[in-house]
Amino acid sequence: MQTALAQSLLNWYKVHGRDLPWRVKGGAHPNPYVVLVSEIMLQQTTVKTVIPHFKRFMERFPTIQSLAKADINEVYLYWQGLGYYSRARSLYATAQQVLKEYNGQFPLAKEQVLKLKGIGPYTAASFLALAYNQPETVIDGNVIRVICRLYHLTQPVDEIRPLIKEKAMALTDKKSPADYASAIMDLGALICTPKNPQCLLCPWQEYCLSKTASNLEAIPYKTKNKKPSKRANVYLIRNRQGQIFIRQRTEKGLLSGLYEFPWSEEKLFSELPQQDTQKEITHVFTHFKLVLHIYKIKTEQVSKPGQWVAIENLPNYPFSTLMKKVAKYL
Ligand code: SF4
Repeated sequence: MQTALAQSLLNWYKVHGRDLPWRVKGGAHPNPYVVLVSEIMLQQTTVKTVIPHFKRFMERFPTIQSLAKADINEVYLYWQGLGYYSRARSLYATAQQVLKEYNGQFPLAKEQVLKLKGIGPYTAASFLALAYNQPETVIDGNVIRVICRLYHLTQPVDEIRPLIKEKAMALTDKKSPADYASAIMDLGALICTPKNPQCLLCPWQEYCLSKTASNLEAIPYKTKNKKPSKRANVYLIRNRQGQIFIRQRTEKGLLSGLYEFPWSEEKLFSELPQQDTQKEITHVFTHFKLVLHIYKIKTEQVSKPGQWVAIENLPNYPFSTLMKKVAKYL
């Protein structure tokens, strides 16, 4: 049955699989750098969002050499809109590592790939499958949904991850792992969608144990953790020439290396007159929700480290999505 399932999925993929800028059909991608950039961008970001950013990034950094030799601030600029900037830093570090340690050729052994910065077991598996056609099993959210539905696995996902992995591995086509990996992800993205799955168009409909289940959309079953919320204050500071005060975050921790308007959970600049705008913006990070209350200040001197920048030059500095939301209130 496994072979029949894989074969029907591969046949479906040939006709209906998505054409994506980082994808070739019919085997591994000839350029592993392309696969790596797309895989890192796709961590925690949707395909639709990634496409335009990927194109722009590849135009500016078409080779691993061009990326490794660039300035990190420029890499951040080209990462804007994707969020999770630690990924940009990891990709940059990996490019330098591959150039230095492997003479620009990506390693083929999984243990070595796992030592590259920012590459965990999921990315290593998809990288090796898509770039080198190695028989690795890719398991992302789409694959989990498809497998749970195919086998009608209704227990909480966190409790049955080993079982999902076992089923997914048994299904993986060993002759065409690159196409198979893309195909099962596309099945989850296009047909076996979270809402309104298109079972009548599904290549696996005759094998699927959930097709007629009344609770189909509730599979896979996920327990929800409510994210904790934090509050903080952010300060838009201008001087008489209309310049804005910004600072760069340290190279470690949340939004590291990016520029920002000063913000803190504590009250800052209490020695200066402040205008309370009564405006707040909310931003959701992976592990918490942040609410920033906006204050405006007019002053010629700021007692904290940072720099004055003309407002028209702000786009030359990499800012997080969070700070771009704040900038709208300038
Ligand atoms: S038949 Fe329906 S539920 Fe089953 S795998 Fe296909 S789309 Fe998903």
